Amino acid sequence: TDLGIQETLKTLGIEAVNRGASTGGYWFNTRGAQIDSVSPVDGKIIASVSSATETEYEAIVLKAQEAYHYWRMVPAPKRGEVVRQLAEKIREKKQALGELVSYEMGKSLQEGLGEVQEMIDICDFAVGLSRQLYGLTMHSERAGHRMYEQYHPLGIVGIISAFNFPVAVWNWNTALAWVCGDVCIWKPSEKTPLTAIACQKLTQEVFEANGVPEGVSCLLIGDAEIGKLMSNDTRIPLISATGSTRMGKLVGEAVGKRLGRHLLELGGNNAVIITESADLKIVVPGAVFGAVGTAGQRCTSTRRLIIHESVYDKVRDAVVNAYGQLKIGNPLDQNNHVGPLIDKDAVKAYQNALIQVVEEGGKILVEGGVLSGEGYESGCYVKPAIAEAQNTFKIVQHETFAPVLYLMKYSGGVENAIAVQNGVPQGLSSAIMTNNLREAEAFLSQAGSDCGIANVNIGTSGAEIGGAFGGEKETGGGRESGSDAWKVYMRRQTNTINYTDSLPLAQGIKFDL
Ligand code: NAD
Repeated sequence: TDLGIQETLKTLGIEAVNRGASTGGYWFNTRGAQIDSVSPVDGKIIASVSSATETEYEAIVLKAQEAYHYWRMVPAPKRGEVVRQLAEKIREKKQALGELVSYEMGKSLQEGLGEVQEMIDICDFAVGLSRQLYGLTMHSERAGHRMYEQYHPLGIVGIISAFNFPVAVWNWNTALAWVCGDVCIWKPSEKTPLTAIACQKLTQEVFEANGVPEGVSCLLIGDAEIGKLMSNDTRIPLISATGSTRMGKLVGEAVGKRLGRHLLELGGNNAVIITESADLKIVVPGAVFGAVGTAGQRCTSTRRLIIHESVYDKVRDAVVNAYGQLKIGNPLDQNNHVGPLIDKDAVKAYQNALIQVVEEGGKILVEGGVLSGEGYESGCYVKPAIAEAQNTFKIVQHETFAPVLYLMKYSGGVENAIAVQNGVPQGLSSAIMTNNLREAEAFLSQAGSDCGIANVNIGTSGAEIGGAFGGEKETGGGRESGSDAWKVYMRRQTNTINYTDSLPLAQGIKFDL
């Protein structure tokens, strides 16, 4: 209800018109273009934000630089303690933040809460990590010498994020960056400014209570222009950017030109291979959730099913049948499976994809369409669709950020399916459904899936924070979240110490004076 959302906004400190730039403690009186946050759930304006201008940008970078000089000297476990308290704060506000994610972005409430849980999980991970920022010790080839490596903070981390994971991606980056001793400047998607303001406010409370200075957590609301300033700024050693491949190429080029470091998390074109021995009990829910969850707006959404000819008809019929049972509607109502797309541009891209696949020779198996009438006033609700297609179709090679699933048949061995799976420009997530050990291992081998994520008997979406997350090829090559992804937020230094009174040179070189 409206009243419920008003309560949620109040709990999170969101006002009718919000300021769009903050250093943590201070909120600038921003005068940039007004951004209205429109909910795709009901088409209503939730609240507005005045976006940041170059003036605030400059002030924030200076503040962040200053804060870095302090923050890098705070012992890492103490930085971890602040992140631990942030996780506590997020736990306290989980329900409200999950609701706002769902209402502002349009994913289901369960997924909104799940996204907030990922924030909590990555904070917990980072707390442990704050005592484990290990370097190695090597044996020197020179007598009386000791050699080791250590990791130092980098400086300012610039975070550019996409609309579809409006809060988790920020925290995947910040939780690690902060324990590593970096300070962060965040430019969220202009489509989801309110969840970003909520995160900044939660952080501010925790940071202020701990005496963390302004500048360690900074927020700049704005469009691509702010992102461009960040990408070109030599004062920002690392840009972590999540979004479309189109954006990633521009950011990668700008950062590359100044030889900065980037972490790119871009589009996917994820497939599930279904072999002869696949267990249909898990294939159908895995494929359907992967394709329609978040209305197909996950970077890891399932876009293609590559099905062995011997089971093709059976799998096709089961999946088509499951689509018939999907309930589309308000994502805050837990009876619904599929919520809205983010906006009308996304609806257009979805419609175009369905036209194009037919033009290229595909066959529609489950009709799409835009829903109208009661409950669908926002114009953003669409029917998940399925088409039979060839992998070589232009539209299949392209990531359409909507619930459109392409079915294709393969014959012969699993290597043929792997070739199809790899035969797209993107390389994020992939899965195989099989009970055949040889097929599973071939899929995971160096001649198997070329993606950053390769799963057996689970779908393509829904990664855990403990693993490194990211993909190859046009997905950008970056890794964030778990495993040793923290290393990208630090600079590595190799140190050699001579504790003798002579100076032997490496490689046995003589230099007599
Ligand atoms: P988008 O590329 O339109 O925007 C992403 C962000 O980049 C926004 O904050 C935007 O303002 C900014 N931006 C746009 N152009 C820019 C430029 N030239 N310079 C600097 N910043 C710029 O993406 P979107 O529609 O918000 O998100 C959907 C896309 O994100 C999909 O392609 C999806 O696959 C991808 N995604 C990838 C991952 C991943 O981890 N690989 C995760 C989530 C989303």
